[in-house]
Amino acid sequence: MKEPTYFQNDCVFEVKADCYNGDSGDEIKPVLWGFCNGDMQDDTTEEPWTIDPKHLPIGTKVEIKFPHCPECDLSQEVCDCGFDWETWIKNTYG
Ligand SMILES: [Zn+2]
Repeated sequence: MKEPTYFQNDCVFEVKADCYNGDSGDEIKPVLWGFCNGDMQDDTTEEPWTIDPKHLPIGTKVEIKFPHCPECDLSQEVCDCGFDWETWIKNTYG
């Protein structure tokens, strides 16, 4: 029996940043951006993404990738080597 094929990405989600919040206008707020093949447009939300197995084909795989520090290889939450994550966020999403 043949096995089904997985393409590279059917849906892509990314935690992006809204960099112009708060009273000072420079507060960083995480937002969830998503796009699935076949969608008319991409979408950004502050709501959590719910993974509902009833609305996904059986065999769906969800992989989550964190950005890792270019200096120490640790993820943002545990990196304490001094890499300037805030500037990286503002340069990438601001
Ligand atoms: Zn680091």
